Amino acid sequence: MAYELENRLVIGVASSALFDLSESDAFFQEHGEDAYRIYQDEHIDIRLEPGVAFPFVRRLLALNDLRPGDPLVEVIILSKNDPNTGLRVMRSIAAHHLPMTRAAFTRGRSPHEYIPAFSMSLFLSASENDVRAAIDTGYPAGQVLPSAMNDDEDGGALRVAFDFDGVVGDDESEKVFQGTGGLAAFQNHEVMHRGEPVGPGPLKQLLVDLNMIQHLERERMKVDKSYQPRLQISLVTARNAPAHERAVFTLMSWGVGVDDAFFLGGVEKAKVLKVMKPHLFFDDQAGHLMSAAEYAASVHVPYGISNEAKIKVGVEDSVPRHEVSGPDLRTSPPDSERITNDNDR
Ligand SMILES: [Mg+2]
Repeated sequence: MAYELENRLVIGVASSALFDLSESDAFFQEHGEDAYRIYQDEHIDIRLEPGVAFPFVRRLLALNDLRPGDPLVEVIILSKNDPNTGLRVMRSIAAHHLPMTRAAFTRGRSPHEYIPAFSMSLFLSASENDVRAAIDTGYPAGQVLPSAMNDDEDGGALRVAFDFDGVVGDDESEKVFQGTGGLAAFQNHEVMHRGEPVGPGPLKQLLVDLNMIQHLERERMKVDKSYQPRLQISLVTARNAPAHERAVFTLMSWGVGVDDAFFLGGVEKAKVLKVMKPHLFFDDQAGHLMSAAEYAASVHVPYGISNEAKIKVGVEDSVPRHEVSGPDLRTSPPDSERITNDNDR
């Protein structure tokens, strides 16, 4: 019988997101493709070390014991490697004891076209180009950025943090903010529409699927009083009162929830993330990720108006704290310079 993917949370990861490929990539840059193949072949049994998304993937897969024999979570390698150089990746997965057996290698072509074939709710890659291609096609994806990894406490819960506008929700409100009316128009708009959910953003389905896992955790707690929840979902948004109401209403109307919510009104997100230490933090705005990356494994979702042009100060910066710090992702150097493993080798 076919292995169905529809009733699971399916995540696609490029090897560049799961593993630290900086050494491999440096070799590729210096010696070229042919030598690189030989290099990977010679190093096939030398385990690749964890990359930014590794702690998230490992903890997520551990939740499969909530539904024995019928995995809740499926993580599939979705890679631009060719199958030969992908061998080291698959052996590294086995060496880390990750229960992942499925993979797609597309040899240099962007693998994003296969996201719907596998019913994926998220594709993670370090390649800016591949992630943009996915988002531009309407698929759920995020670019892992060089950032802090929090993988020290083995028994801790998986912590996932989401921005709201442009991530779980669409960019309708952000467009109002970035229009001529600015913050006042945005607050007015949100109050007027407080009883209408915003449209779905690229990661709505991921949030729905994570809620499915939490539902099973609550079922487990009913029969096992000692069970401690192992998945914590947080909302970290610069919306504050009164605009926070619409975000809350939207989640309620979708039948999903979060464990905690931070309505920051311009207080820097990094301050919260430093304490929370999420295993992944998703945001559509580069300015937030620049400061967050020091404390949290950070993922850029290049969706919506904030990513269409040079970033103005957005909803997410609705109380003027200072100019968005650092270069934004659109105007920083080509990704081959900025993120060395763009080719997902
Ligand atoms: Mg946002």
